[in-house]
Amino acid sequence: MESNKEKVVQRFIKYAGFNTQSDGENTQCPSTRGQMDLSQHVAEELRNLGLVEVQVDQNGYVTATLLANGCQEASVVGFIAHVDTSPDMAGGPVKPRLVQNYDGGDIVLHTEKSILLSPKDFPELANYIGQELLVTDGLTLLGADDKAGMCAIVSAVEYLLSHPEIPHGKVRIGFTPDEEIGRGADLFDVAAFGAEFAYTVDGGELGAIEYENFNAANATVFIQGRSVHPGTAKGKMVNALSIAAEYQQMLPAGQSPEYTDGYEGFFHAHKLSGAVEAASLHLLIRDHDRQKFENRKSLLKSMVALLNVKYGAGTATIEIKDSYYNMREKIEPVKYIIDLACEAMETVGVKPNINPIRGGTDGARLSFMGLPCPNLFTGGHNFHGKYEFLPVASLMKSAETVVEIIRKVGKMK
Ligand SMILES: [Zn+2]
Repeated sequence: MESNKEKVVQRFIKYAGFNTQSDGENTQCPSTRGQMDLSQHVAEELRNLGLVEVQVDQNGYVTATLLANGCQEASVVGFIAHVDTSPDMAGGPVKPRLVQNYDGGDIVLHTEKSILLSPKDFPELANYIGQELLVTDGLTLLGADDKAGMCAIVSAVEYLLSHPEIPHGKVRIGFTPDEEIGRGADLFDVAAFGAEFAYTVDGGELGAIEYENFNAANATVFIQGRSVHPGTAKGKMVNALSIAAEYQQMLPAGQSPEYTDGYEGFFHAHKLSGAVEAASLHLLIRDHDRQKFENRKSLLKSMVALLNVKYGAGTATIEIKDSYYNMREKIEPVKYIIDLACEAMETVGVKPNINPIRGGTDGARLSFMGLPCPNLFTGGHNFHGKYEFLPVASLMKSAETVVEIIRKVGKMK
């Protein structure tokens, strides 16, 4: 694989050049034209490499097959990445720069604007002294999330196609649009994909493997007040803003994002809007544990009931909508796919690092759609911003891990 390094880097730079920032305001799929351009580009590339059944559907989903080489009986494994980049930061023109032999000091991303990628702010840079790093020009994101994942997958199948001496089973590849706006799994055809299990290659630093994420729900609390001229309000006015604030204060102290990490769940009041007459408070509910998650939702409902006792029936109402669930319950029964990935990493000299995701992934949704789908590292850091960087050695290990998983799945049955 090492001899392909130049090619892999050029491939990443090519993908990064497509502005594929997704757009949550656009209800179409893909939400932006650039995504379709990249989907078509990569489909053409896959065809040229020798993959079959290469398709780009009208929504920009790319699927392709690497045919089995000897191991016809083996399970079909899938690898999935997303073509879009985050709307949180300018998505183009991305001009990646390759820093050679990183010396451990500040990296000047943009000279005139004095934008520095500094180990003072990002001490993890110290892990990459002497390595090659792909960085931004300080004006856009890099898009390693998730073009590094795409690049790792394409480079892995390219390697296998040029090494016919390596036996393997059938492999399916899927590249999805609009992951960053939460829609990547919406139009994914799990049945047509036809894999027994898959991996998203959409994680961060070297060695990361993830199969636990939050259970997530959104809640909106509506408060009906009564607006009356403040001069004659005594005993008549009901101030919806005060009641909304009271509701927020009733939330358990310390159980909010700024005070929690690891496996600690939270309530997050993220938007309050309204006036005296009516107000609404938007909350996120997150917990890895399903029972605690359900308890959190019950608590929010009890708090609403209490306000109705205090201020009169109909003062407060709540709507709660579940958004996604912890994939752990879908992965546990097929835990060998985690062991397999960990062994693959160890084979290529990477120490697996299993951590819970404090968020969701497309893989979580796909797992509940019938395709168990943990998440593997791409090697990138600081996603969604101008300080995003990608150590080339980590990207290469991501590709090698994919090769090794494919090789091991071939031997399984
Ligand atoms: Zn991503």
